Parts: sequence; C-alpha cells; structure tokens
Amino acid sequence: MRMTTQRKLILNLLKKSRIPQSAEMILSDLPDHTMNLSTVYRNLDAFFAEGLISKSTMKNTSYYYMNDQKHHHYMICINCQKMYEIDCHLDHIADHVAHEHHFKITHHDMTVYGYCESCQQKLNL
Ligand SMILES: [Zn+2]
Ligand SMILES: [Zn+2]
Repeated sequence: MRMTTQRKLILNLLKKSRIPQSAEMILSDLPDHTMNLSTVYRNLDAFFAEGLISKSTMKNTSYYYMNDQKHHHYMICINCQKMYEIDCHLDHIADHVAHEHHFKITHHDMTVYGYCESCQQKLNL
C-alpha cells in the first residue's frame, strides 16, 4: 500500500474521532488489515513531527488527536481515564519563551493530568 493512502486512512480516523486515539485503537478501526502496528506508529510519529497531531501519554500508552483549526488540549483523569477538552492558553507563553531563546516554534503539546470530581470522591482525595 502506498504511503499516501496509509496517511489518509489514519488521518481520516483521527479527524472523525472525538477523543484521542491510541495506535492500537487506530489499527483496529482501519478498514483493511494491510497495516501493522509499527506502520501505524511510523505514520503517527511523522504526523507528530509535522505538527499535524498532538499526543497525550497515559500509563505508557500515547493517545493522538488532530491539531485542527480549533487547537485545544486535553485534561485526563489518571484514575478513570475520562478526557476533557480544554482551551489552549499557551500560545502567548510559548511566543515569549521562543523569543527569549531565538527558537522557531512549529507546534506545542500539553496535557493536564489529575483526578476528576467523582474519582476524588471515590478515592477520598
Ligand atoms: Zn476519574
Ligand atoms: Zn495549545
């Protein structure tokens, strides 16, 4: 299968999904089975390097999501893994830091981890 077809299939899945997807989730949702997990990872790594997608990592698994027009981040409960979409407030800070270090930023990545309200109650936090 050609690289461009693989890219399109994976990107389409990420565009359609409302929550971040792991490579395993993407692989199992692919319409055909000509790709293996390392192919999916290779494509995801390329998308990430190009700034097309962002990722959040939890319990040694990375979850990927589109860096679309409405750029956003995720807040994840480390107990029940519930994910909340949150607005980005980083651009201003990133610009400031980039200027200070003469760094040219292509994209950034941020995930907030913690406990959701019901897990706080369950765990007596
Ligand atoms: Zn929770
Ligand atoms: Zn952001």
